[in-house]
Amino acid sequence: MRAVLSVGANLDDAAGAVEGVLRHFAPEAVAVSPVYDTAPWGVTDQPDFANAVVIIDTPDTPEQLLDRCQALENAAGRVRELRWGPRTLDVDIVQCAAPDGSEIRSATDRLSLPHPHAHERAFVLVPWLAADPDGVLAGVPVATLVDGLPSADVAGVRLQEGGRP
Ligand code: ATP
Ligand code: CA
Ligand code: CA
Repeated sequence: MRAVLSVGANLDDAAGAVEGVLRHFAPEAVAVSPVYDTAPWGVTDQPDFANAVVIIDTPDTPEQLLDRCQALENAAGRVRELRWGPRTLDVDIVQCAAPDGSEIRSATDRLSLPHPHAHERAFVLVPWLAADPDGVLAGVPVATLVDGLPSADVAGVRLQEGGRP
């Protein structure tokens, strides 16, 4: 399947933590975004995040991929505290698609697909658009979703200094 992953961190070496995940998935990656500095979403009283999106082709099932994402979080010393709060690493599965391109849906306690907040998050959509200008989420082009975001949200997603263009 093809999967879109959103990677974020805002404690310790946040950019380094994000880059580590991008390296982990590099053998399966078909596209990767630059790393962005982003204003916090949901809980705004916390440090800015480093965020990126990587798109992979993997033999994993969605559940196996979630296991890998959570193992990476644990290896980064993540402690589960406040939802949407500060964290050393967060790796979310935004979307999974079957080889024929159809979107895989899930609504279990452990896994919601597509990710229920992706369509409203500039820190997911702007990097996704950079990685794949043809991306589509639940039938809507990612470019259209970005156009519909509040401009302040989009302005809060900035290419990192020294990051790749
Ligand atoms: P959000 O999911 O809104 O971005 P969060 O990333 O802060 O919030 P976490 O505490 O990291 O939330 O995860 C809570 C639970 O969400 C995880 O234990 C996981 O089982 C579940 N989950 C459901 N759908 C997904 C998904 N698509 N990707 C990652 N985790 C998911
Ligand atoms: Ca998240
Ligand atoms: Ca998460």
